[in-house]
Amino acid sequence: MIPKSVNIVEVGPRDGLQNESRVLPVRERIRLIENLAEAGLKQIEAGSFVRPDLLPQVSETDQVLAGLNLNAGIGYPVLVPNMRGLDNALSAGAREIAVFAAASETFSQKNINCSISDSIQRFTEIAKKAIDEGLKVRGYISCVLGCPYSGAMPPEKVLHVASCLQGIGCYEISLGDTIGVGTPVATQELIDTVSRDIPVDRLAVHFHDTYGQALANILVSLQAGISVVDSSVAGLGGCPYARGASGNVATEDVVYMLDGMGIHHGIDLNMLIATGQAICDLLDRPVMSKVSLARLPIECEG
Ligand code: MG
Repeated sequence: MIPKSVNIVEVGPRDGLQNESRVLPVRERIRLIENLAEAGLKQIEAGSFVRPDLLPQVSETDQVLAGLNLNAGIGYPVLVPNMRGLDNALSAGAREIAVFAAASETFSQKNINCSISDSIQRFTEIAKKAIDEGLKVRGYISCVLGCPYSGAMPPEKVLHVASCLQGIGCYEISLGDTIGVGTPVATQELIDTVSRDIPVDRLAVHFHDTYGQALANILVSLQAGISVVDSSVAGLGGCPYARGASGNVATEDVVYMLDGMGIHHGIDLNMLIATGQAICDLLDRPVMSKVSLARLPIECEG
């Protein structure tokens, strides 16, 4: 049941950076993505076509794409919130987009200013045009195991949104524990429910380590047959000093666990650790990967 091979979707350059306070110039974002590709990652979120005043950390994603080799066999999905964003992504040469829905009605209203059903209607039009243009469309669902406003999330609500996203043509649906409150048994129940309608080979998991549960939840997901895991180098996206930090699980920690399980992933852990430490130096923040911290040289005293 456990997959022999896992695809990691690296979300650091988008989901990670957009939650960091420091804004990196385009050339540094390109360098980060290139280093991640060199470390072996094959699917790297490259940015977002949202309004630049809303998220300056991922503005000028068109220039990031222009600086990358889009023909190197690596997927560079970009987040698209509306039709204008799609048009800009198309102009920039994007080959894959992601749309972002929520399982929670309140979160949907507060995060994207519309109801779940209105968001699905909007994404239906976006996905149709994108697919007509030859792009792949990935769907995200946030708050799958809990909402900061409405609490625990019934799995049936996630199933409903996942079925809608599958229906509009998303090739893969990423289940996001946005506030990191999920535990393994809840994760198992969620996957059992969602996989009634969505085959597990079309599901990905996106865990946050806010409560230290991410790897346990990923293990349960692997045991359920899921073989795509979202993660963020150095745990980018979680401010260690802020309560409610988003706390993406660190790619280094996922890779280490996969190594221990004998699961193929194609990533060079040492290169990944070096990439994580370099980007954290630039952002002037600590590395959140436990594996990276464990590999730091020990400084002996006396
Ligand atoms: Mg995240």
